[in-house]
Amino acid sequence: MSKSPTSVVILGGGIGGVVAAREVRSAIPADTRVILVDRQPIQSFPPSYTWVMTGQRQPAAISRDLRGLRRKGIEVVEGSASTVDVAGRRISGEGFEVAFDYLVVALGAELAPEAVPGLAGEAFSYYRLADAERLRDELETFNGGKVALLIPSLPYKCPAAPYEGAMLLDALFRNRGIRNRVELSLSTPEPQPLPVAGSALGQAVVSMLERKEIAYHPQRKTTEIDRAAREIVFEDGAREAYDLLIAVPPHRPPAIVRESQIAGPAGWAKVDSGLLLTDAPQVYAIGDVTAIPLFDGMMLPKAGVFAHAEANVVAHNIAAEIRGDDERRRFDGHGYCFLEVGGGKAASANGDFYGQPRQVAMKDPTRLRRLGKMLFERWWLWKWY
Ligand SMILES: Cc1cc2nc3c(=O)[nH]c(=O)nc-3n(C[C@H](O)[C@H](O)[C@H](O)COP(=O)(O)OP(=O)(O)OC[C@H]3O[C@@H](n4cnc5c(N)ncnc54)[C@H](O)[C@@H]3O)c2cc1C
Repeated sequence: MSKSPTSVVILGGGIGGVVAAREVRSAIPADTRVILVDRQPIQSFPPSYTWVMTGQRQPAAISRDLRGLRRKGIEVVEGSASTVDVAGRRISGEGFEVAFDYLVVALGAELAPEAVPGLAGEAFSYYRLADAERLRDELETFNGGKVALLIPSLPYKCPAAPYEGAMLLDALFRNRGIRNRVELSLSTPEPQPLPVAGSALGQAVVSMLERKEIAYHPQRKTTEIDRAAREIVFEDGAREAYDLLIAVPPHRPPAIVRESQIAGPAGWAKVDSGLLLTDAPQVYAIGDVTAIPLFDGMMLPKAGVFAHAEANVVAHNIAAEIRGDDERRRFDGHGYCFLEVGGGKAASANGDFYGQPRQVAMKDPTRLRRLGKMLFERWWLWKWY
């Protein structure tokens, strides 16, 4: 009897999943199946959501159809997975079941605005494409008042995104000539911007916010949104009024991972920090769905750049194992991000997040770096779909 072909299943086709699927496909024989499962075939590029918010990008320009990967030999299954059965080596959802020899869990983080009383339906956001479009429409008719940006809870993906959003809103209101009628603030439970990147970088971002007259309120834990009063209520009893509330929705591990054998204590996938292997053989997890502690107890940020690098490592190692090669790679914790600051400029931060001590340095905002950010977006959308 012939043995059924080996199958590599990638669960989640976002930033990490699409890279893992493409890379593993290109490195293993054609008779090995690569199956990509996602509930949402149309994918979009999250780093560009702030440009959707400001009207600088149309959603279609940053969206791609995963089903196009079928042309490249990847089986794309459209469906919402509800169970990962590690022991039985299969995943299933309504109307489908997929068996795996190798599994890469790349499910990202679940957004849960309902976790903060009063937030859902009251706050705008740019953490999903449709939400960024809604906020763009709201901003088009906004004529002045108190704009409160809120990070209600940790962790959240892309530590720079709320700061970038605040500075791009500042620029938008200036361009419209209404900045003098807008009070802009940012409140967060963090002690400083991007705490994992160190105090010098945090202070540099605080100085940028000050120069742009964006009021910054660190160490504020949100307890609820008082919709009637249109105020944010913080744990210490402080309140902040708003006319327009823009929030980072609380993040939590996807239910399917929380309820699986690969979950760590907080419900995120527990992995080896170099190989991204879970405790289950041939089951990997990458990207936002993981929680990777750093040497001082802080966590590796949830960011696409890490999901991408981890996907490369995992794809390489799975392919090597299938081919019978010995060479294994390890994710080394290096990453970078852009921080757009308005006025056509972007800064960048670059670092070794596994370093002891961690070394993360920021480069000043320039037009060239913003061009780099735009080119990266174009390259990404061309390269992976
Ligand atoms: C506004 C914004 C700006 C950002 N800017 C940057 C940046 O400049 N640089 C950077 O590095 N990162 C940035 N990020 C973060 C980056 O987008 C994420 O860290 C990255 O997408 C994580 O990749 P992932 O593969 O782990 O998860 P995701 O990209 O979130 O993909 C998860 C996939 O799993 C699918 N899925 C979930 N549950 C199921 C299920 N039950 N069944 C089937 N499919 C499922 C989803 O549909 C999704 O396609 C930004 C994020 C936002 C919101």
